[in-house]
Amino acid sequence: MTEKHHIAMMPSPGMGHFIPLIELAKQLVLCHEFLVTFIVPTVSPVPTALKTLLQNLPQGFRYPVHGKDLPEPMQNRNSDIYKVFLKHSERYRLADGLLINTFVDLEPEAIKSLQGGYDHQPGFPPIYPIGPLVQDGSSGGANGSECIKWLDDQARDSVLYVSFGSGGTLSQAQLIELALGLELSEQKFIWVLKSPDDKSARASFFSAQSNTDPFGFLPLGFLERTKERGLMVPSWAPQIEILSHGSSGGFLTHCGWNSTLESIVNGVPLIAWPLFAEQRTNALVLTDDLKVALRPKDDENGVVGREEIVKVVKGLMVGEEGDVIRDRMKLLKESAAKALSEDGTSTKAISELVVRLKNQ
Ligand code: UDP
Repeated sequence: MTEKHHIAMMPSPGMGHFIPLIELAKQLVLCHEFLVTFIVPTVSPVPTALKTLLQNLPQGFRYPVHGKDLPEPMQNRNSDIYKVFLKHSERYRLADGLLINTFVDLEPEAIKSLQGGYDHQPGFPPIYPIGPLVQDGSSGGANGSECIKWLDDQARDSVLYVSFGSGGTLSQAQLIELALGLELSEQKFIWVLKSPDDKSARASFFSAQSNTDPFGFLPLGFLERTKERGLMVPSWAPQIEILSHGSSGGFLTHCGWNSTLESIVNGVPLIAWPLFAEQRTNALVLTDDLKVALRPKDDENGVVGREEIVKVVKGLMVGEEGDVIRDRMKLLKESAAKALSEDGTSTKAISELVVRLKNQ
């Protein structure tokens, strides 16, 4: 590489209250010659103090990150969003510190790098990994108690929870394949279903309650054929309660950062199915680095076929590989709890911040 390249990253304007900044560092496996940029979109609930940018991180990660795994806005250097990233990148070192919803055991090398690397390069803002922070209390709405009652009747670790976050949408063709794949897998599932959209994977972000009945898009006879094994939930389910229920044994997720952390906190292994924004990068971390997720392959049209879905669903829920992934996820769950305990790294990071603020 002869010139210095720039990379920009924008977090999903979804439900996240904190930003998974840490993925940026992972991207630098390839990119130690890159200037990395990070901005918070104005529509996001993320605090503006986190308008922070990353620059010149050292090497030292374990796996390569390919261009296709970078967030969408970074794929096109001619886009306006990309240019905004670059503009803000110049301000990275002006930040007084970064609060990150992660924890040291989850991403030790990335955190180290954000702190200036193993050779302690000067000039990096202090990093406060204070997670995993997840909501507590009910998130269920109208469908809450029905889901939990249904789970109460299922065997331990036997149910796959399927959800693409607050706004993720599949195409009609993909929805059909997923339905048939779930049916053919013969596993139990709870599926939070949104109406399909062939133009945009984030279609329901801006129309949280679709007026169309999503069940009308399912294959003919699907509901009847799967009624003993599957619970279909329109639009929204009590995700946190579902993931913390003992019957939940897997989560097919779009890899939003909140969903990722909620799964880790509850020790539920994953099928990584990213749709847009930074989700592909998160999926890469979950599969290649942490190895707590399986990732289905799509075909030349970008659709994941029913056979591939059967393969990953059975692989996770009843396969040997699934057992290994489940054990690994349980260890990660313990690490997460430890980070938040009295002497844990995240508790210490918050204390350090408090002391610093008091002294200012
Ligand atoms: N969520 C939920 N029920 C749903 C879908 C989502 O409670 O049916 C919650 C989920 O628990 C998480 C948030 O919405 O806290 C989704 O955030 P995430 O960062 O995973 O994805 P995003 O929606 O921002 O793409």
